[in-house]
Amino acid sequence: MLVAKRKNGDNFSLIHHWNRHELEEYRRKEVFFCPDCGQALVLKLGRKRIWHFSHQKEATCSYQYERESDYHLQGKLQLYQWLQDNQVEADIEHYLPNCNQRADVVFYRENKIFAVEFQCSPLDPTMFLKRTNGYLQHGITPIWILGGNQVKRLGENLFSLNQFQSLFLQQHEKQWYLLSYCSQSRCFLFLQHLIPISTNKMIGTLTPIPRNEVKLVHLFHPPTRNFRSFSQWIHQLQKFKSNYYIYPNPQQRIILNEFYVNRSHLLTLPPELGLPVPSGIFIETPPLIWQSFLYLDLFHHLLVGDTFTYSQALQSFMTRIHHKQIVSRDVPLGRHGDYTNALKEYLQLLVDCSILDNNSEKFWIKCSFSASDTIDQQREKEQKFYQMHSKNIMKQFLSHPIMKQGEDV
Ligand SMILES: [Zn+2]
Repeated sequence: MLVAKRKNGDNFSLIHHWNRHELEEYRRKEVFFCPDCGQALVLKLGRKRIWHFSHQKEATCSYQYERESDYHLQGKLQLYQWLQDNQVEADIEHYLPNCNQRADVVFYRENKIFAVEFQCSPLDPTMFLKRTNGYLQHGITPIWILGGNQVKRLGENLFSLNQFQSLFLQQHEKQWYLLSYCSQSRCFLFLQHLIPISTNKMIGTLTPIPRNEVKLVHLFHPPTRNFRSFSQWIHQLQKFKSNYYIYPNPQQRIILNEFYVNRSHLLTLPPELGLPVPSGIFIETPPLIWQSFLYLDLFHHLLVGDTFTYSQALQSFMTRIHHKQIVSRDVPLGRHGDYTNALKEYLQLLVDCSILDNNSEKFWIKCSFSASDTIDQQREKEQKFYQMHSKNIMKQFLSHPIMKQGEDV
C-alpha cells in the first residue's frame, strides 16, 4: 500500500516527492500502521519495486494489500497522477466511511464521488457485485478498470473474456466495451465493439491511448471508432463451426445430436443463424447455438406465409433457458436491457433482412430459411447472404443510423 497511519493518527503517503534519504530517516524514527487492521507496517524502499508499505510476515490483515503486485501499485499511482494532471481533485487508497470500503483512487466531480477500482488479479463475481453495490447504495459511482495484464488477446481482433473479464463489460449506446489500463506502457486500453463468437471468445478492437492523451470523459464514454471487423467476424464464426464439430465436449455432443435427429447439420445450417445483435452479450451461449435452437423449435416447422407471435418465440427461448441449454451472461455493469432484448433484436434483424415480416401482432415467414445439402453449397449461400445483408447487420451497432459513404462494413 502507499498510504499508512502515523503514531499521531495522521496519514503518511508515499505519493509525495520523497527522496530515499528522507524516507530512510522516517523509517528510523517513525512507526507506521495499517489503516485497516492497525498492525505495524514495514516501509519497503527496494530498488526493484515501487516504494510501499507492507505488513510483517506473520500479520493477518483482512484487506487485500498483500496481494498487490507492483503492476497494481504503479497503476494506482499513475491513475491518481493522471487525475491530478487533469485538474481533478483525487485521493489515493481512500477510505469511504459510509460504505466502509477503501477504493484505489477516489475523485470528485460536479458534487459527485467516483471510486476507481483498478483490478489486476481475478476477483470473485460475488465480491465484484458486493463492492459495486456498496458504492452505488451510497451514491458513489464505481469505475472499474481492468489491469492491462488481464486483457487476453488471441488475434488482431479476437479476445478471450472469461467470467471475470466479462464483469467489466459496459455499454455505450449500442456498443459494448471494456476499460483497461496498462501501468507498464502507461496507456489506457479501450477494448471496444465487442461481439461474442463463443462463450469465451469475442471479436473487438483494442485501442491503446497514452494516458496524457486521454480525457476524463473517456472514463464514461470511450473514444468511438467505427467497427471494422465484419470480415473477421465471418472468419471466426466459420472457425467456431468447424471446431465445434470436430472437437465437441459432452454438452456440445448433445446439441449436435439434436441437430442430427432434426436432420440438420451444424455445417449446413442456414446463414441466417449465428448473427450478431447488440444485446447478444447478455447471452453466454454462442449466438449460433441459441439462434439454432430457435430455428429447431420454431422456424424449422413453418412454411412461407405461416405466422407466429413474439410470445411463441419467447416461450421457446425461455424453455431452453429453463433447461440451461441457453445460459445468460453475468454483466453487472450492463444496465440497459437483458437477454430478451437479444431475441427481439434478432427477430428485427430477420425482418430487416426480409426473411420475416411483421405487424404489431405477429410475424410471418417471408422467405424460407435456406439450409443446404452440402458444405460447399452452404458456404456459397452464406457468402451471398452476407453480401446482401452486411449493411443491415452492421447498422445495428451504429450509434447514428445513417452510414457515411465509403465506410468499411
Ligand atoms: Zn492491515
